[in-house]
Amino acid sequence: MSIRLADSHAHLDLEDHFPDQAAVLRRAREAGVLLVINVATGLADAPQVIATARTSPGIVAIIGVHPHGAGGMTETDLAALDSLAADPKVVAIGEIGLDFYRRRSPEEVQQYWFRRQLDFAVAHQKVVVIHTREATPVTLSILREYRGRIQGGVMHCFGGSLTEAQAFLDLGFYLSFSGTLTYPKAGPLREVAKEVPLDRILVETDCPYLPPQPWRGKRNEPAYVVATARQLADIRGLTLEEVAAHTWANTLAAFGLKEEEVLEEYVGRALPAID
Ligand SMILES: [Zn+2]
Ligand SMILES: [Zn+2]
Repeated sequence: MSIRLADSHAHLDLEDHFPDQAAVLRRAREAGVLLVINVATGLADAPQVIATARTSPGIVAIIGVHPHGAGGMTETDLAALDSLAADPKVVAIGEIGLDFYRRRSPEEVQQYWFRRQLDFAVAHQKVVVIHTREATPVTLSILREYRGRIQGGVMHCFGGSLTEAQAFLDLGFYLSFSGTLTYPKAGPLREVAKEVPLDRILVETDCPYLPPQPWRGKRNEPAYVVATARQLADIRGLTLEEVAAHTWANTLAAFGLKEEEVLEEYVGRALPAID
């Protein structure tokens, strides 16, 4: 089997969702998911996200404070992120952004810490991973303030219109589609996914959340990203292998990773090498 997939957004160390993490990673590897971008949601899981990236092959770390946590964020937290961001396994700052749907923190507070973390990414010359829900216009206008300073990044779990997709693309972002692309009611999103340039698309699980249609109601995990890739293949009239190759290469490019360095980590590790 030569298919190689990347899960561009997973929360492997979120609370106690993956007590069986070794088995989860084994299934990912068996499914050809050889690159997993492990995303912290705040300071609570950031150290473990980095530790997992250090100890498991094919995993890199992203650290930052999710908009849900913005209300409780402090200068001390930013200083803590500062020391963690120096780790070579940290490839981006995220997920950061705005969530006006759940609104767990006041809008102004979310905007304040979104900008502070964008400043932080600029200072560390890192790309960013953006979360936005019911807040796309404000998210875009803030990102436009940083045009030319932010090196780009990923708009994760993209669920917007084609116009919004184009706006993120214009700012140099990649668009990542999650399992929501497979849902029966996602017709409009599938229409958008049909139009986005193939060299700017990623796929993700956002696990443990948002399982693709075949696993609705269950815990999501990186191996299931194949269902989203298959859906994308159907939409675009491509083979699964073609979508896997494009999204794999795009994920490497989005985070400045080298394929040979990712694959090298597997050499001599427990499961037999793939290929
Ligand atoms: Zn998110
Ligand atoms: Zn997420």
